[in-house]
Amino acid sequence: MNAADVETIRRAVRQHKDEAISLLQEMVRIPSVNHPPTGDEKEVQEFYLRHLESLGLECEMFEADDVPGFKDHPGRSKEHDMANRPNVVGVRKGSGSGKSILLIAHADVEVTGDNALWVDNDPFSGAVRDGRVYGRGSGDDKSGMAINAMTPKILEAAGVRLYGDLTIASVSDEEQGGANGTVALLASGYEADGCIYVDGCNQDLCISNLGGGYCNIDITVAPPQRDTTELLKYFDGFRRRITEFREIRKKDFKAHPHYVGEDFTNASIRLMNVSLGVDDASHGAFTIWFYLLPGEEPEQFKKRFTEFLESAAGAGNYKMQWMERLLPASEIKQTHPFAGCLKDSFALGAGRTPSVTGSYMSDMGFINQYGKFPCIIFGPSRMGKDGMVHQPDEFVDIAEFMECLETVVFCTMKWCGYEQT
Ligand SMILES: [Zn+2]
Repeated sequence: MNAADVETIRRAVRQHKDEAISLLQEMVRIPSVNHPPTGDEKEVQEFYLRHLESLGLECEMFEADDVPGFKDHPGRSKEHDMANRPNVVGVRKGSGSGKSILLIAHADVEVTGDNALWVDNDPFSGAVRDGRVYGRGSGDDKSGMAINAMTPKILEAAGVRLYGDLTIASVSDEEQGGANGTVALLASGYEADGCIYVDGCNQDLCISNLGGGYCNIDITVAPPQRDTTELLKYFDGFRRRITEFREIRKKDFKAHPHYVGEDFTNASIRLMNVSLGVDDASHGAFTIWFYLLPGEEPEQFKKRFTEFLESAAGAGNYKMQWMERLLPASEIKQTHPFAGCLKDSFALGAGRTPSVTGSYMSDMGFINQYGKFPCIIFGPSRMGKDGMVHQPDEFVDIAEFMECLETVVFCTMKWCGYEQT
């Protein structure tokens, strides 16, 4: 890209700042919570469809259950019901033979918790304060939806015509272990030479992602029990084994350059939802959440963990129930041309080198595993600091949001090729 084109884009991005923020606010104000087995994405998806249509894109809205190949897809979660949870896709055909790009974001948001913990006591305020937009989804992932929708708008305003096709998709059911929207998108045949899933944190360029899921474990000691003494003793054996397993997993994680940080290693396996002797002093249950590293096969992990846990099985009975399909981990090469393109684009947009690293669980693994085209996670939501995703009072920093938008616009132009009209 020559210097004049870069300057034209920078100006166009600046000129569209208010519009980009308003679009984000509007979408934050349309709640679209994913609460398995169902979700409330429909209203925001209808809004997004109208918006993409107004930009002149060739659009369609469709439900996963209407896509041939979705029902039997190995990535589908049968635990999530997809009725009234559509996907939206908009396409701008390129004028020539450039490479194609797919920009994805997800329309569902996490649950919100206590309203009192949010600005204005409203999880869906979309309020702007101190250079931030507040509300559930402001970062994760309505900022992604807004960035993707603003991209063709800015290109048009800057007089840029792409050679390759630009496809924008907003999928339902990403949170809560879902991924059915992404699986339906893949089953319906959408693909590209490069894909940015604009669902990233801290503006990191994530070329790998963790997989994983959960396992529910039911424990029983011989009834009748008058109190939970025996049950607690039995549970404690499991708790100790899980702690030991975490130490082993820490070593596994430290062997992968993207996952050496303490945030990752401490989260590698977690004990959750512990409930002991609630109705019956002889019975309890808990959940194990765990992550898989790129290259780790879910079935092998299950076997390894199951065998490890067996030694905790002393004076009781236990039953393990695994999540029906675990989320796949994935990784693309740092030397992949698409990774290079996004990296260079970030340097142009933000004026510094991005950190190239890995993300937690995301839909990216499904695309890299089943889509067979390279997908990178990138975006402005926040992780490990105030305003972070999935926590109360989520926000996005407007300057970072705009940097990500500029990066995505540059990447689209560089990847697809373009002419100035
Ligand atoms: Zn997300």
